[in-house]
Amino acid sequence: MMFRFRQNEKEKSLGKNGFFRSLNFRILILLFLMGTIPALLISTASLASYEDRSLIRLANDVSNQCQILSAQFGSSGYLKNPNNDTLTGELVQLATFYDGRIIIIDENFKIIKDTYNLEEGRTMVAEEVIRCFKGEKTSHCVSGRFIEMTVPIMMGEEDQKTTIGVILASASTDSIRSRLDDLRTSVEIWLVCGGICVLALAVAFSNWLVRPLRHMNQSISGLVDGALDGNLEIYDFTETENISNTFNMLLAKLRLMEESRQEFVSNVSHELKTPLTSMKVLADSLLVQEGMPVELYREFMQDIADEIDRENTIISDLLTLVKMDRKSPELNITSVDINEFIEQILKRLRPIAEKANVEVVFESNRSVNAEIDETKLSLAFSNLVENAIKYNRENGWVRVILDADHKFFYVKVSDSGMGIPEDSLDYIFERFYRVDKSHSREIGGTGLGLAITRSAIVNHRGAIKVQSAVDEGTTFTVRIPLRYIV
Ligand code: ADP
Repeated sequence: MMFRFRQNEKEKSLGKNGFFRSLNFRILILLFLMGTIPALLISTASLASYEDRSLIRLANDVSNQCQILSAQFGSSGYLKNPNNDTLTGELVQLATFYDGRIIIIDENFKIIKDTYNLEEGRTMVAEEVIRCFKGEKTSHCVSGRFIEMTVPIMMGEEDQKTTIGVILASASTDSIRSRLDDLRTSVEIWLVCGGICVLALAVAFSNWLVRPLRHMNQSISGLVDGALDGNLEIYDFTETENISNTFNMLLAKLRLMEESRQEFVSNVSHELKTPLTSMKVLADSLLVQEGMPVELYREFMQDIADEIDRENTIISDLLTLVKMDRKSPELNITSVDINEFIEQILKRLRPIAEKANVEVVFESNRSVNAEIDETKLSLAFSNLVENAIKYNRENGWVRVILDADHKFFYVKVSDSGMGIPEDSLDYIFERFYRVDKSHSREIGGTGLGLAITRSAIVNHRGAIKVQSAVDEGTTFTVRIPLRYIV
């Protein structure tokens, strides 16, 4: 129920923008960007490089043509006599072909030919023209619309050539730009179509990727509703297989906890009912028999009082155990002289041991100081020594040995008692477990003593182990850190 409630809360908190926060959406966006960004970059770079290459090619073509003209002008003396119709015709044809303008300048910077017929006779002292007269060819793009270049007109022998004029030519880049616009439009159409395909693939792929997670959620919801029956089996990816396996381990643990909880409840009910049943039988017998002697009355009443005591012991043991079982039990940690601490416990228990004719011996190899919760650990050691006395034989012994190293102190409680059968050793720390129920009950055991002992020791981050042989005796060894670890 609690699981279901949490899940509903979660679904609510996802709310309307749940999709945008989902893994599905993020994978989709990632795939879409991964598919479209490279295509965008490649197409932009290709268009830019196409433009560059086209401009260079145009500039080379115009330059080559001007070079041919320049050679003809040099050899024909066109600069002195510009009325050569053939050359003028070629000049105009070239300018028209490249949708541009050609100007011929003589060594006095005078324009002797202009294909636009606008500037003939004028003087042109532009920087490019001066540089060209010094033997340097120039070429540059004017506001992206024209390529403008200068080519020198030379005369003389191979190694004594002089510049006698300059061809200033410009060619329009309109045709390149309109071709580029067409290309850009078709690239954009391809990009949009490609983008739609990538989006469709991204939707399909992201759905495929998160499908196991959806199945996982459904299966877990089903498991919660079905009282933890079944297992999680999402084996699509290695990760989901690992999660499934870990989750199944958790489920197994939960089932075990649930089983032990049910067993504990039924044990508690049973244990609490037993003294009540005895009391009821005793009280009924008193009521049925009339004129019972007073001694018998007293005896029955004494038995009823004993059963009440037993009920009390069980309840107080249960309360102690519940307190100790808490995740963060309240421990009152102080620095304690352990020798003195154990002496005190044994002093309290010696009268019981004497009654049972059991000798209790304490051996200590060194003085030990440790940070412990005195009350809780006293309960733990008392239970061990009390058991060693209770489950002993006539004229038996109990030996308590204290030792320590730089990290832990060790307490060994050995006895010469009846021992514990090997198949019971794994269970003696469980609540209400008793090797011999009737014998334990007879000597006043509740079956909770060792469970309380282990809880107290575990709360101190310590450990307990047991060795036993039937009819020879039992040894419990406890290890507790000298400094309390939070
Ligand atoms: P109880 O209240 O019955 O003593 P415990 O939890 O203290 O319960 O012990 C569990 C069972 O373990 C006991 O019923 C007894 O059968 C067995 N046991 C514990 N300590 C000893 C011991 N020193 N010698 C033999 N049996 C023991």
